[in-house]
Amino acid sequence: MEHHLLDTTFEKSGALSGKATTTFVSLRNGLRVVPLSLFPTLRVQSVTADGQPLSFIQEDKNDDADFAVILPKPLAAGEKFSFTTTYGGKEAVRNEGSGNYFPVARHNWYPNSVGGAFGEYASYDMTLRIPKGMKMAATGVLVSDTNDGSQNVTVWKSENPQTVAGFNFGRFKVEETKLTKPEYFIQSFANEDSPDWVKSLQRSNEGNDLARGPDSEGPYGTSHGSVAALGTMSTVSLNKKALAEGEIAVRVYSDFFGPSQFTHMQLTQQTACNFGQSWPELVWIPICYYFDTTVRHELGIDWGNRGYWTVVTPHEVAHQWWGHTVGFNSYRDQWMSEGFADFSASLYTIFTEKDPKKFLKFWNDERELLLEKDPQGFRAIDVGPLTMGYRANNSRTGFDITRRLIYPKGAYVLHMVRMMMHNNREGDKPFKDTMQDFVNTYRGKAATTEDFKAILEKHMTPEMDLQGNHKLDWFFDEYVYGTQLPSYRFDSSFENAPDGSVVLNFTLSQANVDGKFAMLVPIYLELDDGRIMALGRVRMLGATTDSEKVPLKGLKNRPRRAMINYYYDVLASPN
Ligand SMILES: [Zn+2]
Repeated sequence: MEHHLLDTTFEKSGALSGKATTTFVSLRNGLRVVPLSLFPTLRVQSVTADGQPLSFIQEDKNDDADFAVILPKPLAAGEKFSFTTTYGGKEAVRNEGSGNYFPVARHNWYPNSVGGAFGEYASYDMTLRIPKGMKMAATGVLVSDTNDGSQNVTVWKSENPQTVAGFNFGRFKVEETKLTKPEYFIQSFANEDSPDWVKSLQRSNEGNDLARGPDSEGPYGTSHGSVAALGTMSTVSLNKKALAEGEIAVRVYSDFFGPSQFTHMQLTQQTACNFGQSWPELVWIPICYYFDTTVRHELGIDWGNRGYWTVVTPHEVAHQWWGHTVGFNSYRDQWMSEGFADFSASLYTIFTEKDPKKFLKFWNDERELLLEKDPQGFRAIDVGPLTMGYRANNSRTGFDITRRLIYPKGAYVLHMVRMMMHNNREGDKPFKDTMQDFVNTYRGKAATTEDFKAILEKHMTPEMDLQGNHKLDWFFDEYVYGTQLPSYRFDSSFENAPDGSVVLNFTLSQANVDGKFAMLVPIYLELDDGRIMALGRVRMLGATTDSEKVPLKGLKNRPRRAMINYYYDVLASPN
């Protein structure tokens, strides 16, 4: 698909009616039927081309609602064609009360190409009409914003070809900021009033706690008898926080990965509590993010200590790079989109958390997610390689496996690359150069796992060339295409050489791996003043043990201790 011209009207009820002109190029000779993705309850009234009606297929929404257009004559490969679909329906957008709307249909509220992966790019021109008093946020750049009687009409144009288009509207209050380096206009939208489900929580909280009883199940988790402490649930008050987080994330990611495809981003509150999502220039942030920590605790949604709420915004902002600037080619490559977005959130924590231990906790949490058993008894890391993507989910292994696999392990793959490329002289420069080359090479295109591997091989350090062939087969076979998890044992002591200088004695063992498993294992010193210093990396091959004596030249005092993997540099068993 090359271009989408969309004109869509939303009623107060959420009912949608639209006209979509779809322009596409046939990739094969003899194309006669064009399959499209359209939300099942959006019913097609007509399809026309050059004013002439075309035949189309759309069975009942409860049968096989798949939509397809039959062309008047077969197209040759390379031939371009346009048709206009007139359609509408009630359930694609839900009215959640008090000016809150939830877009249920995210990628198929207009006739879109079939196949969920974000590997295709098209340009968009959109006119979106909503009831007066509402504000629209959408993918693309805002061309105009006018009132037309009872409607607010906004016109949007894609800055660059986009993977998908979307919107979010409601009675929003907006905060905004302009960055100059990089040039980025960031807006944050929060709703002035609460949706019905939040209001019903507040109502039940007023005066009648006993009616709820202790530990009654709310729609979004267990709430406790003590909900009397439920404070303000206004989301507007924390809107500045969302804006600030978005701003920091854009700065950090632009520095590491280079500019994204976009110069504009809208962070928007959505009424769903438990997930976020990112479209080009448009991010949906779960409403519970905007509640303060006391309210989240009272609602029983603090979800352990894994810090979901601190990384949801940086994760979603990172998808402006991973998924939308660089697309992914198929489900086999989706680990890069989700994993790199999680990795990006780790960079964000470096710049926002004063306590450096938070960074270590982040990687410990990611490892726990990979290594804890799900209710079916499986550890995500054992179920399959990253490139299985969503196929790793099934009734035997559990339907949460992919979430537990591609997010944290994909993040670890990039973290391991970063740590291997890091050196005391240049810091992250080699890693930044690599990632910027990757983003620039695949800007506005889909990348495969092998494309990423080739970029890494172009930039790898001599030390990373463990096979002596300038390839990273060893690393990809172990962590991307394979499921191995090494375990390490490290013993160390210090002694003084006759000249008084300090010498490190260590023994390092690598186990639970096959004979080909190669790794660079970094050794760190905690100096007598508490500083952490990278000493070097040990090459390990197979199940093996290495003992060495390392003179620590220039060190006057004995370090407190020597350690391996201080920064969780290598994804390995915790013991
Ligand atoms: Zn994600």
